[in-house]
Amino acid sequence: MTVAARILVTGSAGRVGSKLVRRLLDAGREVTGFDLRPAGIEHPAYRDVLGGFDDRAAASDAVSGAEAILHLGAFMSWLPADGDRLFRANVEGTRVLLEEAARVKPRRLVFASSGEVYPETVPDYLPLDEDHPLKPRSPYGLTKLLGEELVRFFERVSVVPATILRFSHTQDAAELLDPESVFSGPRFFLHPKIRQQESFGNMAAVAVLKQADDGREALVLSRNEAGRPFQMHITDTRDMVDGILLALDHEAAAGRTYNLGATEPADFAAALPGMAELTGLPLKTIDLPGSGVFYRTSNARIRTELGYEPRWTFDRMIEEAAQVRAKRTS
Ligand code: NAD
Repeated sequence: MTVAARILVTGSAGRVGSKLVRRLLDAGREVTGFDLRPAGIEHPAYRDVLGGFDDRAAASDAVSGAEAILHLGAFMSWLPADGDRLFRANVEGTRVLLEEAARVKPRRLVFASSGEVYPETVPDYLPLDEDHPLKPRSPYGLTKLLGEELVRFFERVSVVPATILRFSHTQDAAELLDPESVFSGPRFFLHPKIRQQESFGNMAAVAVLKQADDGREALVLSRNEAGRPFQMHITDTRDMVDGILLALDHEAAAGRTYNLGATEPADFAAALPGMAELTGLPLKTIDLPGSGVFYRTSNARIRTELGYEPRWTFDRMIEEAAQVRAKRTS
């Protein structure tokens, strides 16, 4: 198969999309980015289309000339107030984009779904594989499942082979030790975690977290109410980009659905003491109300079928995060 030369990347200003665009340009491919925000990329082979995915004129402009479409853009929010925006961006936006795509008949479509379609936090069994029942619990997870259905519908009707990638939680390594990071801040740092739980209205969690707060920033080793430390996959953006490129170019990926993420989950009990040492912050072990987060997702299918091999272990990501933090705080 000859590889597609002209690629549309949606979500091109985002964490994953922006790095993917650079990798494609480095490989000599022509790229159109489509996002609400500019990607800030100056390159002769790059074109930015600004707009919402549900804006038909913008979507039509974005898909023109595309030989492959990597639909990575989405709105991520777990706030009840964001429900309308979530469905407009992720469901209506995907529908409009794919209708426009059907007119240009790309050779390949890749869609960024999420492990929240299972969801990972309430698994029927572990490790989670692609055959696990799909029973999302969050509106965000539901929009991703509806997105998968729209993609398979588009594939059947337009006869464009599509690959669905169910993304693991994904971070730039530098985010892991940054209290300002939208995900890692509340995951690992006490004060952002208190603010996040307040915004969700989880007042029982807020009370427990505040008990541990002596006014000084601290790292948090989160455990559930029975004292089981959290465990989840946290994958480096660079490894995600490798997987997306395989889905784009590998013949065997056509029509397939894959979990995409790190091979081993991050074990918070093992990782947090080292993170506290590297940052010099105190470590608070906190048992949060509820069953907590504890899962393992199998990436065996994509490793076996496409030869995917993630390179960034959690320890390696933390090493890089510590270097970036040292520069930021010096
Ligand atoms: P990101 O938030 O950094 O980037 C998403 C981009 O989409 C942003 O630049 C945003 O401006 C754009 N966007 C949002 N709504 C839009 C709309 N209506 N029209 C046009 N552009 C819009 O996200 P990311 O971390 O790069 O994630 C990429 C994809 O992976 C998303 O589909 C996300 O749902 C999925 N995903 C991410 C994670 C994660 O942990 N980061 C986990 C599972 C799945």
